[in-house]
Amino acid sequence: LSVSDLVKEAFVKIREYDGRIGAYLTLNEEGAMAEAARLDDKLLTNESQGLLFGLPVGIKDNMVTEGLRTTCASQFLSNYDPIYDATVVTKLKQSETVMLGKLNMDEFAMGGSNENSSFHPVRNPWDLSRVPGGSSGGSAAAVAAGEAYFTLGSDTGGSIRQPASYCGVVGLKPTYGRISRYGLVAFASSLDQIGPITKNVEDSAYVLQAIAGHDPKDSTSADVEVPDYLSALTGEVAGLKIAVPKEYLEGIEPQVKAAVLEVLRVLEGLGAVWEEVSLPHTEYAVAAYYLLASSEASSNLSRFDGVRYGVRADNPGNLLDLYYDSRSQGFGPEVKRRIMLGTYALSSGYYDAYYLKAQKVRTLIKQDFDQTFEKFDVILGPTAPTTAFPLGSQIDDPLTMYLNDILTIPVSLAGVPALSVPCGFADGLPVGLQIIGKPFDESTILRVAHAYE
Ligand code: GLN
Repeated sequence: LSVSDLVKEAFVKIREYDGRIGAYLTLNEEGAMAEAARLDDKLLTNESQGLLFGLPVGIKDNMVTEGLRTTCASQFLSNYDPIYDATVVTKLKQSETVMLGKLNMDEFAMGGSNENSSFHPVRNPWDLSRVPGGSSGGSAAAVAAGEAYFTLGSDTGGSIRQPASYCGVVGLKPTYGRISRYGLVAFASSLDQIGPITKNVEDSAYVLQAIAGHDPKDSTSADVEVPDYLSALTGEVAGLKIAVPKEYLEGIEPQVKAAVLEVLRVLEGLGAVWEEVSLPHTEYAVAAYYLLASSEASSNLSRFDGVRYGVRADNPGNLLDLYYDSRSQGFGPEVKRRIMLGTYALSSGYYDAYYLKAQKVRTLIKQDFDQTFEKFDVILGPTAPTTAFPLGSQIDDPLTMYLNDILTIPVSLAGVPALSVPCGFADGLPVGLQIIGKPFDESTILRVAHAYE
């Protein structure tokens, strides 16, 4: 099988399924075929091959790709062709993957169902009447449908893990700082992380290996050694200490809870031990997150002014109108809601009551995790309280939509790594297990997921 065959096959699948699923926003067919031909030539010589040689990939459309349209699923950037590659894209090129195209998402990564894309929604490959989750819904659906070998997503409050859970694939949100975000369009800078979405845990380890590491172009990327993730996949969990927060089993769909308890039984059979614990500040996480993430978003998105990037409103009367009209026309309703909420929370007179308070809550949540990890190796629970819900069922109710993230948001606030791995089905829909690890200990969560898988 040549790389060209592999890439051709991916485009055949995209043509066959994507009219119904809607995972892609931009295809890179010509570029991909040229790259595949180059890699096939290389196969003939005996040159050394990159770690991910020949694998066809898709990238969430909030990572910039030189010369390939990058929209963040927003009308604002519907005409934006970046002049450089994000560091993760450079690294994927160095590992000799083939870029198939850019994947649909909630506009500027704000959402949990992919219905906030300003182009079209994504549908769940397991049941086309249901959402794939979000905001990396295109990235998860593409892997589930075989429209890419693997993809990259971004996760601010759950956007890799929750769609991975709804689509029955593996999604990893690494430790904050593990992967460079240079070239990732910022949503909430103290939370955003890039990570792989793959069919299985071994692939997740491979992709993480290829994209992790310090990057001088991103001052928040950590100068921490990158271990050999593949050698971590030993199948061994004997003696492993697992904490199960009781807050993560409350208010969960009974079949989801049953699937997670079954995993604990399996892991126990392999020699792991588990204990119920409490992360007492869990109930404040969603409120704190929506204040902090929206505050940061309101600041980050001020760069979209109709002058520097993307679409500019026609015939503005003066400079202020240019900003006003471009932003009114460019941003969709959810993005505007967050900018308004964030601007309010940061305004003088309200800053102490909202933003500062939320920061203090964040510290308490981080301490819950720190204390638990003094005694345990991993924390385990469901990724989301339910399975994928029907399209349209929550879109008019932002608060219900926000509460879907109750199990992924605390992890994001604490900055620790977590992985969602499929752990069975409820009424024919995939259920995801969330495995949470110590800072920079992706190896252990990959090992546990691999042993279970
Ligand atoms: N659903 C969450 C939100 O809307 C998380 C999004 C994300 O992780 N990008 O903010």
